[in-house]
Amino acid sequence: MTAGRTHIVGAGIAGLSAALAVAEEGGEAVLYEAAPQPGGRCRTIHSADGFSHDNGTHVLFTANRHALNLLRTVGARDRWIEPERRGLPLYDMRSGTMQRIGLSPWSWLRPSRRPQGIRMADLARLVRLALSVRDCPVASIVGDRPIMDNLVGPLTLAILNTPPEVASARRLALALRRLLWPQASRLLVARNGLSEDLILPTVEALQASGIPILAGQRLKNLVIHGERVIGLSLTDRAVALGPRDNVIVALPPYEVERLLPALAVPQRFEAILNVHFRLPGPERPRFIGFTGALTQWLLVRRDHVSVTVSAAETVVQEPAADLASAIWREIVPVLRDLGLDACAERQPEARIVKEKRATIRQDAASLPQPPLRPLANLALAGDWLGALPATIESAIISGEEAVAALQHAPAAGIRASRHHPPRREDAA
Ligand SMILES: Cc1cc2nc3c(=O)[nH]c(=O)nc-3n(C[C@H](O)[C@H](O)[C@H](O)COP(=O)(O)OP(=O)(O)OC[C@H]3O[C@@H](n4cnc5c(N)ncnc54)[C@H](O)[C@@H]3O)c2cc1C
Repeated sequence: MTAGRTHIVGAGIAGLSAALAVAEEGGEAVLYEAAPQPGGRCRTIHSADGFSHDNGTHVLFTANRHALNLLRTVGARDRWIEPERRGLPLYDMRSGTMQRIGLSPWSWLRPSRRPQGIRMADLARLVRLALSVRDCPVASIVGDRPIMDNLVGPLTLAILNTPPEVASARRLALALRRLLWPQASRLLVARNGLSEDLILPTVEALQASGIPILAGQRLKNLVIHGERVIGLSLTDRAVALGPRDNVIVALPPYEVERLLPALAVPQRFEAILNVHFRLPGPERPRFIGFTGALTQWLLVRRDHVSVTVSAAETVVQEPAADLASAIWREIVPVLRDLGLDACAERQPEARIVKEKRATIRQDAASLPQPPLRPLANLALAGDWLGALPATIESAIISGEEAVAALQHAPAAGIRASRHHPPRREDAA
């Protein structure tokens, strides 16, 4: 790290990860965040009446090495727990049956953990999918077989937030290969919530390293001279950069495009719908998948239950009240099986969060990837950069790589930075 200061714009998980990487190098940094609080798309929504819930359920896999390292660094690893140690429960709405499946193919050696109806021909297709190097839609490899419905489809939606008919097989394959390692496919959730178990511990670690987060500071413009950023125009201040200062822009693609219009960035996004019902639940969270339903995932927490619907572009157009009541009717039988006091006619208070640009749309068409370091003293970060699925893991990697990119010899602008070395995950 140079002796200058690193100005990090955006305090989502990518910006926070970059700030931690600067702190680890003993460098000086400051974060600017447009919203009143850090966290970005990972946040807990607190309301005056005491009903708090995350914007949407976030899961990690034990394969997410960088995310787990970050949690260890900030002392929050033990706050992420495995709700379903005996295999992931999948509830089929059409038949009203529940099956526990293993997410790792190794676990399928036990017939009770094997997804229903899996045959030798399916295994061959799964191997082809996991080895995909040339891109094509996931559905074109797996076809219309039971494993699409009870394994590949739900995984594609959960990991890529894109319908399998168009989702990138290569991107999914990168994630699936990581799940093959022993113990890599354990699914984790935050015990209490994203703010308490991820964002606040990270913010506290940064504060302890003397790195401030200035909330309510939107970057309006970058002041660029030649190949360098020389100033930041923020909500209520202008920041002049010193000759050894760097900038990390840790923002979604549409903000990068506004600030640096010469860069090509992904243009399409996918929505995620989350519905949270206020209902007393068990002390330890439960996590259940659904097939044949609008509901895709159900997280049951101490004081509420949360339903996730990914790739929800059309669904989010529907009125919130209709969505809540349709989803409530779907989940009642499962909640009752868990011993909770749920009744189809008695829908509890519901909060609906429609994240219209939850992630980029990760389809099989190649996505524009701008250089990591388009200006001599500016690097990009964000979950949408790189070849891995756009998740917490890719956001964290991007923050670390932005810091590393700024440590190399100065790039000669956008033209020269096309030759940047491949990211670690591109080479996977
Ligand atoms: C509902 C939902 C469910 C998800 N589920 C999962 C999951 O299960 N597992 C998983 O790994 N990932 C999941 N994700 C994806 C995950 O949330 C993102 O990949 C990750 O949070 C992206 O972090 P980021 O820092 O790249 O971007 P962001 O979180 O978008 O951070 C960007 C930050 O920049 C700020 N900002 C924007 N413009 C400006 C500006 N001009 N100046 C200053 N600040 C600005 C924003 O306010 C924001 O805080 C989910 C996302 C959603 C929405």
